[in-house]
Amino acid sequence: MKALLHNLDSYCTSRTRYSRRKTIPVQVGPVTIGGDNPIVIQSMTTVDTMDTGGSIEQCIRMIESGCELIRITAPSMKEAENLAAIKEGLRQRGYQTPLVADIHFTPNAAEIAAKIVEKVRINPGNYADKKKFELITYTDESYQEELDRIRERFLPLVRICKEHGTAMRIGTNHGSLSDRIMSRYGDTPLGMVESALEFLRICEEENFHQIVISMKSSNTQVMVQAYRLLVQKLEEGGFQPYPLHLGVTEAGDGEDGRIKSAVGIGTLLEDGLGDTVRVSLTEDPEFEAPVAQALVARYAGRAEHAPIAAPAAYPYDPFSYKKRETVEVANFGGANVPRVIVDMSRLGDLSPKEMKAVGHFYLPELDKWKMNDLGSDYIYTGEQPIPFMLPNGMKQIQSWETWKQNADRKNSFPAFKAAEWLAQSELHPELNFVEVDTEELAELLPALRERKDVVLLLETKNSHAMPALRAALATLMVEGIQVPVVPSLNYGDQSADKTMLYAATDVGGLLIDGLGEGVLLRMAAKSAQPREQLLDMVKLHNSVSFGVLQAARTRMTKTEYISCPSCGRTLFDLQETTAMIRKRTDHLKGVKIGIMGCIVNGPGEMADADYGYVGSGKGKITLYKGQEVIKRSVPSERAVDELIEIIRQDNKWIEPEFNPEQA
Ligand code: SF4
Repeated sequence: MKALLHNLDSYCTSRTRYSRRKTIPVQVGPVTIGGDNPIVIQSMTTVDTMDTGGSIEQCIRMIESGCELIRITAPSMKEAENLAAIKEGLRQRGYQTPLVADIHFTPNAAEIAAKIVEKVRINPGNYADKKKFELITYTDESYQEELDRIRERFLPLVRICKEHGTAMRIGTNHGSLSDRIMSRYGDTPLGMVESALEFLRICEEENFHQIVISMKSSNTQVMVQAYRLLVQKLEEGGFQPYPLHLGVTEAGDGEDGRIKSAVGIGTLLEDGLGDTVRVSLTEDPEFEAPVAQALVARYAGRAEHAPIAAPAAYPYDPFSYKKRETVEVANFGGANVPRVIVDMSRLGDLSPKEMKAVGHFYLPELDKWKMNDLGSDYIYTGEQPIPFMLPNGMKQIQSWETWKQNADRKNSFPAFKAAEWLAQSELHPELNFVEVDTEELAELLPALRERKDVVLLLETKNSHAMPALRAALATLMVEGIQVPVVPSLNYGDQSADKTMLYAATDVGGLLIDGLGEGVLLRMAAKSAQPREQLLDMVKLHNSVSFGVLQAARTRMTKTEYISCPSCGRTLFDLQETTAMIRKRTDHLKGVKIGIMGCIVNGPGEMADADYGYVGSGKGKITLYKGQEVIKRSVPSERAVDELIEIIRQDNKWIEPEFNPEQA
């Protein structure tokens, strides 16, 4: 089996040629994960597992929406037993979709479920351990004793799975690593990988290989690094190439949840990693499969992409985050956050009021501009210069032909085609944009050396877009060229949903590796379109650009909600509660709030949230600052006020002053 991976390029088969990582096939009832099989779409129910009828109805809605595998929580033996009734009910209704039991803390529930359903998911962080948040110093001997203890606890399940042909997922979560792993490795990608390998070794010793592995986190950088490291460690350790289950935990809802999922999952899919996908949103589970399908469908036919010239090296570490070193050009590169450029070139004759689409609000009665958290940094107007004074802090980019005839060349900057710029005509003294395709970059390299007045708008015609852009950026690094680069992407007339997912994958995939000093989503050159539609597209591009920067953790402009997708354990309506908390706190830029349905897994899974709102009983909420409990069992009617009070006492609260949306 090792021969399958002989071409391994660090963590995937190739970083320039699309091909899926070869994995062993794992049989889950009638569905096969891995091997040469299509990527499997899966999701998880949210109804109480003891509600047999409700669970069956929800499973059917999920199957109808595209779910090929359904996970159901089994927190104790009685829920594990009830999986038989749910399975039976589904089969009677003619649905053969395999079921997966989700297990935390309860080996006895796992052992029952493994005899009933087609697959069992265990969390190696809590299968044989209760988390006490203790830092323990282990000697090699005492660590081995711990492993022996796990082995004893875990072996019965492995043997049941083998006997019943039940598959298993070893599903590591960044937020719920065992005290043992935390003590030795910290909450690092390496700790996540080792957490799975401890259990995997036991399976392999028992000659049990029907295993899928996941490395989930709500932090997209950690998640991507952990999956990559897992692939490398499996190869190095001589393990079988097990299929990967991809997912970002607690991604949230709406646009933010979709973007965050796409940044993590899409980045890995681009490199051919992933055999089954679950998108987790704080929404009804039937909304998850279509998002996963849209992410996965992009790779049908991807292998036919035009060749990408491989750079001499990829001079960055794909297992840890570091920004590419760049020179500072105006407010691009150097220590600056990545910038958002919004293309408004197809709108012509813009009015001040229409700048609302890019987060800038003109208040005529005060003759002033205000900006919300998503105020774009630059707009690209092409041949259609803006006829009014732009707000402070916002600049305009025009085509070079237009710019050179412009009276005000201070607050506007030229965008050259590569050939125009090479002709070295009139330049702006500070900041010049050069639009260049990845195929043309080689010609430009000598002229780019030592430049401190250029930002590249890098685009590609290659359908394997992210890797083509990444290879070009790696070439710049190899050549020692430090000009800032803004990836420029055009999704033509794709729907809003696809534009969001594709941009999150392509731009997010670069940002995760520290590449890219901004985002530019181009407007498709199409025939006449109603102005309202064009403005909607501009608005979408603006919010998606900020969303991707935040999801890749490179520029925080909004409050971040790490809300769990809910499951049978959930103690309150997560969607409603998330919306309520969002309404009161969404002006707290950069603050991370965890909203978790239960106290069993919630505190662990909200990972690096600054504050936590966790269901701890019917109508009762426990509030956290980081991992520390601040108030227990607060009645839910008062819990949001109390949460705000905790934020206030922590000096992180600011009063919401102005709501530009109502301006
Ligand atoms: S944190 Fe949410 S999704 Fe996770 S077990 Fe608890 S209720 Fe279920």
